[in-house]
Amino acid sequence: MKLRLARMHHPVTVLGPGRRIGIWTQGCTIACPGCAARDTWKSIKDNEIEVAEVLDRCASVDPELVDGVTISGGEPSEQPGALTELVRGLDGFRRAYGWDVLCYTGTEYGEFAGRCPEVPALIDAIITGPYRAGEPTGLVWRGSANQKLVPLSERGHERYRRWVNAEPDRPALQLQVDDDRVWLIGVPRRGDLSRLRQALAERGVGLEEASWRP
Ligand code: SF4
Repeated sequence: MKLRLARMHHPVTVLGPGRRIGIWTQGCTIACPGCAARDTWKSIKDNEIEVAEVLDRCASVDPELVDGVTISGGEPSEQPGALTELVRGLDGFRRAYGWDVLCYTGTEYGEFAGRCPEVPALIDAIITGPYRAGEPTGLVWRGSANQKLVPLSERGHERYRRWVNAEPDRPALQLQVDDDRVWLIGVPRRGDLSRLRQALAERGVGLEEASWRP
């Protein structure tokens, strides 16, 4: 089974508790106005990768340096078969190492569960709902106030209950630098992206393309 994968990264420290492996799926038809990840919208066949390869990449990370896995997108539930196979494979890591799995979706919980009925029982928490630019929030790991963090498993309740209504002073953001790209990881608040562009411009760095621009 193949998954359209946008990218993976470790350690991710801003999308869930602890140090995490981030898996971003490629393809999203929800098209939230103001989405900061427009680069993940197109369903690109070139991005296909065997789920087994994704799991191998997870296995290549020292498990001592991982608290969990965050699956984001794109819209993971638009690839229900691959997502199901992925979380089935990650279940082995959950059992062996105590990792938790957090999944983002731009759908509401009922729609997500209808698309991928096996997945909720194999993950620990889910963040649901589309990004709504007109409903800003300080809730941790979320971009708008309508988005809900829902613990699902016993481990999910242990780890995530305290974060359901938590509002840190400011959101944490991470930068990952590749050969020709800078990836911003995390959920920016309103104005953060234009402030970042301005700060880079003041240092003589211009952005040729940005994922949040149409
Ligand atoms: S915010 Fe998420 S669900 Fe909405 S368009 Fe962007 S990737 Fe899709």
